[in-house]
Amino acid sequence: MNRDTSRDLYDRALGVLPGGVNSSVRAAPQPYPTFVQKGDAGRVIDADGNKYVDWVMGLGPLLLGHDTPETVQSAVQKRTSEGPMYGMPTEVEIEHAEFIARHVPSVEMVRFVNSGTEATVSAVRLARGYTGREKVVVMQGGYHGAQESTLVEGDGDGTTPSSPGIPASFAEHTLTVPFNDEEAITEVFEEHGDEIAAVLVEPILANKGIVEPREGYHETLRDLTADHGALLVFDEVITGFRVGGLSCAQGKYGITPDLTTFGKVIGGGFPIGAIGGRTEIMEELTPAGDVFQAGTFSGHPVTMAAGLETLTYAAENDVYEHMNDLAEQLRDGLRDVVAERAPEYSVVGTDSLFKVVFTRDGEAPRNGADVGRANVQRWNRVFRPQMLENGVMLSQNQFESQFVSYAHTAADVEETIEAYRNTL
Ligand code: PMP
Repeated sequence: MNRDTSRDLYDRALGVLPGGVNSSVRAAPQPYPTFVQKGDAGRVIDADGNKYVDWVMGLGPLLLGHDTPETVQSAVQKRTSEGPMYGMPTEVEIEHAEFIARHVPSVEMVRFVNSGTEATVSAVRLARGYTGREKVVVMQGGYHGAQESTLVEGDGDGTTPSSPGIPASFAEHTLTVPFNDEEAITEVFEEHGDEIAAVLVEPILANKGIVEPREGYHETLRDLTADHGALLVFDEVITGFRVGGLSCAQGKYGITPDLTTFGKVIGGGFPIGAIGGRTEIMEELTPAGDVFQAGTFSGHPVTMAAGLETLTYAAENDVYEHMNDLAEQLRDGLRDVVAERAPEYSVVGTDSLFKVVFTRDGEAPRNGADVGRANVQRWNRVFRPQMLENGVMLSQNQFESQFVSYAHTAADVEETIEAYRNTL
């Protein structure tokens, strides 16, 4: 397979973009990333003209795949031709917020921002402002974007920043616990209960393999936060309007968080984030309340139109049934291949998420540390490049989730299972 154009573009990019990319994970594939020319349904075509089955799907936003329906395309074109944005409010922002509030029972009000990171930054500030407390609890192996409060490593209250450039004093306000460990979170609340503003949790860890919650875990988080006057913040940037369909992961698990962060899918492929929750909390945000929040591009009309039309399409068609059925076929096929060829590995995922993680600790990984023991070198250096040769584009590192879209087909699934079989 000739990939010379990608190599040459990467070489050129290294001269003007730090690390050759605009988001770190894109440069994880060795020795150079694949540069994209265009998408086509469930496939992606690289700068050299090679075509791959695409399971990256924009890292999650592309619910409908690369071929957007006519309704989405015409809404985007109309908005663009009428002047892309104004710095003044538009009706489509209300319509989008109404759609979210109609489908997600915990959400009465929405504030739109421009990325998942912005959403979690604002949610943490809102939780601190609302409760008058400073500490937040996050899960080890969880990810909430490139923000100062959650880029931490360590255990319990012994955390340090996980990146240079973040003052150590920021990490002092962030506590970490292992996901799915009821004892650990209970202890943290026993010790710091009246200092904790919020527990911030992905309902399913989706940036460290795919780790599903044990039965009762989210109920424990819900009870502890409620008992201690802290907020439960579900980070549904990945799971929102993907896992659990239109009611999101919180609907699937039957949990009512105080705040939810959204991103990815709700922008229909354009930059977006959002915070949603009860009126009483949301109205603490400026200009209704005092917790400052603002953004020139927030509620961008083109994004709003693309997101709303995408979600409307999903509400009116068999989008989730198709994706989830196909993903189930894929996971079943991969389970057979793994049992036969690599019984030391695990197939993980639910709804339209899937991944083969290169580790097996018991039945399925229970937390970030289980997944962290994966065989990263083998995955990066041998497995992923070989899958590319077999025409299958997997996520850029061993830990990111992979996404089935509405545009994927049974043929994509069969080809992928075959490629895993050959490669493993
Ligand atoms: N939260 C979660 C759970 C995420 O997966 C991500 C990104 N993958 C973010 C927040 C940050 O979103 P963004 O990259 O849009 O800033």
